[in-house]
Amino acid sequence: ALPGAPGGESKETIKVVIRCRPFLKGEDKKSDENLVIDTDNASILINQTSEKTRRYDAVFDWASTQKDVYDATAAEIVESVLQGFNGTIFAYGLTGSGKTYTMMGPHEAKVTSDTHSSIFDERLGIIPRAVKQIYDAIGSHQPLERRASGGSLSMPETPRAPIEQGTPRVGGERRFLVRVSFMEMYDKKLYDLLGSKEERGVALELRGEDSPWVDKLTQREAKNVHAMMEVLEEGRKYQHHRCTDMNQHSSRSHSIFTVIVESSAEAEGGRRQIRLGKLNLVDLAGCEHVKQSGVEGDGMKEATSINTSLSALGNVINALNKQIKQPHKPTHIPYRDSKLTRVLQDSLGGNSKTLMVACICPGAKQMQDTLSTLRFAERVT
Ligand code: ADP
Ligand code: MG
Repeated sequence: ALPGAPGGESKETIKVVIRCRPFLKGEDKKSDENLVIDTDNASILINQTSEKTRRYDAVFDWASTQKDVYDATAAEIVESVLQGFNGTIFAYGLTGSGKTYTMMGPHEAKVTSDTHSSIFDERLGIIPRAVKQIYDAIGSHQPLERRASGGSLSMPETPRAPIEQGTPRVGGERRFLVRVSFMEMYDKKLYDLLGSKEERGVALELRGEDSPWVDKLTQREAKNVHAMMEVLEEGRKYQHHRCTDMNQHSSRSHSIFTVIVESSAEAEGGRRQIRLGKLNLVDLAGCEHVKQSGVEGDGMKEATSINTSLSALGNVINALNKQIKQPHKPTHIPYRDSKLTRVLQDSLGGNSKTLMVACICPGAKQMQDTLSTLRFAERVT
């Protein structure tokens, strides 16, 4: 925790959970007896031997619902974002293993809502649920007025810790401003999914050495769940337009949906107490490209770049974990090794909460990839 930070209820945490999707219609239902998912003990048995048992923070099998996963993993991160801390949630796995399902839900699931009520489709995933949790929590609060300049109340770069922690004055009202940005990283370039037509076509610049930020990234204000979901759908539409083969495209790009929750309350002595929390929701590129085999030419170049960013992410999380376990030993966190980790630097480590949902398939056919996903998950814990 930040030295001397009052409140101090939020400590840096890193959690890694495994989720196995069910068999899909028409899929070869042959499962591999060598892979046993033991949800009770949060472990996965490989080859039925106890020495090969891997333990994780939680393990979800094919019967798990979106609510099961959310309540046990993401909910506490969103709560701490509301308190002014940063959080990042990743979905990692093979293409077709359920990353987008876990983050978003199936395509046909939508939030139908107006300002008074909302009907929530239970199949919706982490992003809509996080959005709902945020607005449910702040719903009864007054909106925060933006400054005449239209800018944020605080600095453009999110600081690593809340600006000021503490309890707002009794009777003082906390006001909220919720903003969102949505970008995609494709072939090492960052694209704004919420920009104008011209802006969307131009790669964004990453600026700043020690605390990098993405220059000219569009931030939209969203006043309620409905408005936020509209922004999300807008960005997703553009993501789909970029490439005729949606699945091909999504398997090669990382998408980063960021919700910034800023709030202000009157504190002692008439001062204002501002909190700024940032939540990154990341649907990573498919990890099958990490495998070197069978890819040539452009595909190979892409594979190498995805390979680099996913393994750099693994290294950063691994180093952060070491730091948590041995807080007095200086640990080098290799943020600079990839653009992905630099983009997310202010939300990885330093009081932030991180969750990795590693998605796997139940079939014998994908067993090799499942093992490589489990190895990755194991390495970062
Ligand atoms: P990815 O994003 O990793 O490529 P998807 O999320 O698109 O994978 O999932 C592949 C297919 O499996 C989709 O048709 C999706 O609806 C289905 N699916 C994934 N996870 C689940 C789940 N937990 N329950 C039901 N269907 C799922
Ligand atoms: Mg996907």
